[in-house]
Amino acid sequence: MMDRDLLLAELIKLRKEKERHDLLYYELANPIISDYEYDMLARRIKELERTLGEDSNSLETVGKDLSPGAKVIPHKQRMYSLDNAYSLDELIGFLNKLSLEAGRFPELCLEHKIDGFGINLFYENGQLQYATTRGDGFEGEDVTRNLKTIPGIPQSILYQGSIEIRGEVYISSEDFLQINTERTENGEKTFANPRNAAAGSIKLKDRSEVSKRRLQASLYALGFANPVPAQTQSDVLSWLKSQGFPVSDQFLVCRTIAEVESYCQSWENQRYSLPFEIDGIVVKVNELELQKQLGYTNKSPKWAIAYKFKPQEKLSELLSVEFQVGRTGAVTPVANLRPVYISGSTVSRATLHNEDEIARLDLHYGDTVLIVKSGEIIPKILRSLPEKRLPNSEPIRFIEHCPVCESSLTKEKDGSVTYCPNASCPAQLQKRLEHFASRDGMDISGLGESLLSRLIEQDLIHSIPDIYRMNSDELAKLDRMGEKSANNIINAIQASKQQNFDRLLFALGIRFVGEKTARVLAEQYGNIDAINQADFESLRGVPDIGPRIADSIQAFFSNDDNLSLIDDLKTLGLNFVHRKEQLSNSLEGRSFLITGSLQGLSRSDAEALIRKHGGKIMGSVSKQLDYLVVGEKPGSKLDKARKIPGIQVIDLEALKHLIGSPQ
Ligand code: AMP
Ligand code: ZN
Repeated sequence: MMDRDLLLAELIKLRKEKERHDLLYYELANPIISDYEYDMLARRIKELERTLGEDSNSLETVGKDLSPGAKVIPHKQRMYSLDNAYSLDELIGFLNKLSLEAGRFPELCLEHKIDGFGINLFYENGQLQYATTRGDGFEGEDVTRNLKTIPGIPQSILYQGSIEIRGEVYISSEDFLQINTERTENGEKTFANPRNAAAGSIKLKDRSEVSKRRLQASLYALGFANPVPAQTQSDVLSWLKSQGFPVSDQFLVCRTIAEVESYCQSWENQRYSLPFEIDGIVVKVNELELQKQLGYTNKSPKWAIAYKFKPQEKLSELLSVEFQVGRTGAVTPVANLRPVYISGSTVSRATLHNEDEIARLDLHYGDTVLIVKSGEIIPKILRSLPEKRLPNSEPIRFIEHCPVCESSLTKEKDGSVTYCPNASCPAQLQKRLEHFASRDGMDISGLGESLLSRLIEQDLIHSIPDIYRMNSDELAKLDRMGEKSANNIINAIQASKQQNFDRLLFALGIRFVGEKTARVLAEQYGNIDAINQADFESLRGVPDIGPRIADSIQAFFSNDDNLSLIDDLKTLGLNFVHRKEQLSNSLEGRSFLITGSLQGLSRSDAEALIRKHGGKIMGSVSKQLDYLVVGEKPGSKLDKARKIPGIQVIDLEALKHLIGSPQ
């Protein structure tokens, strides 16, 4: 292969990876890599794009936080992202460029970069009208109800004009730890970091649940404003405070590079003394007039940059390695470390992923290891320090037998993952049941990690069908289980029989079949038998299903245990047929997008209507879009659509006409 091909292959791979992390971060609020790793990934993509002269579309949009079907409101002024500097040198480079452009060293306003979730508040005639998330930067999700639960957000202000006020919703480090402790106790998944906890909370449907999350807010910027109440960024902050908004006092107006450096360094060292997490310093041109002159790139203001703190690294000692068996039987090695305090919390464990990782790190018992935790996320061993190793220390070896059922372990074809092949291995059973009952699976509330482990221990459950065979008397006999909660759980279990087929398919835990794949399969094949009978070629023909997934589906159905599992569940009355809510196919093969509010129809109802008639909803305006449906107060999508020939701009009446049945 030519060099260029190699680089191109890398670019394509990294873009895919980034998409996956975007989804995890922005939409599922559940990232699996640190912000730092993400930034490095984005940077490498940019570098490759520059070298290859590829278009850089993939980087020029702000990450999305819009959930499908949510009510959205267009911003009056776009909400941008921020460019990052990863060292003081980079920051100084930015300031030099800025000085050149401005013709002088501009006055700067430095602020904490709170690691929270961006919000936009709109006030008119002194009253809060609505609150949204950043969304895609052009329009955000309506979170007014939830935002009102946050203490300190004024319902009314003295200022009587029209104004967008921007800031951050966040959770203090202490509240974050407490929420995660509670979640662990309730058998719920913990949040990776405070930012994600805040992001997840602001979109919750249940308001009383939101107030339990102890959200706080800090405001720091204006969007659209008429009249504009300040001339400089520092005045904006004072003005916000005078209007009663929560504002950080820790900002500083700087006039020299030395002042900038000292502020950044001093906060980098003190960051963990704050009650909440900050991941950097935002450096902004102070004068609003000069900001306006400098303008924006496609993604961020040219008059501001975020200086990002370095992830903390610390030395620890590898005490032992534990091997854990997961739901699919995959065995994951986990390092037990001498506890060290790093980035705001104590770390005593780190995942080692797989056998290759252990080899790559060349780990020996008792090794001194360098660990990193970039601000918030999962700790990771960067490397071992062989120069500090004792002469007779043993290398870590991967186990050959399952630590729970003692079956011989097998290795995946590509060598990266090791499995316990025993389908009835108790370690897998627990995880498989947890997955089955989980919120994204069959959503059986009350049936979480700890109850399942007690049920397995008490020999009440040996398989998934056993869940449906339990009665409330058996359940009520467990310690700490009242009659009422036993009844509730049994009711939840019975109700889950009606869950949609795609959820059941996901809950079965077929390897590589995630929620989305399950939905696609359910829609494509309609029922479990058709999926079972589908051959490899047919499966491969389904959108988004590659050879790896097709292989795994076939492997699942060629296993007799799995077939009898399905038979049992059928007998117990679970729903293995996809309910299609198709009303007609009058919109078949056509794609739609909605902007503005449609009379008498919420955004999600309108989208559902289009889907029910066979139409497809697009994520954004592009050449692939056939129709833009425009309601009142359309957003920027309309301007974008007008620039692309071929997109038809229609109103609700015209949409109903297309559907063919005026409703
Ligand atoms: P990023 O999402 O990494 O591009 O960072 C930009 C985000 O940082 C903004 O959208 C804000 O939500 C957030 N942020 C936190 N503190 C500040 C601040 N003081 N000024 C501007 N943005 C901030
Ligand atoms: Zn096992």
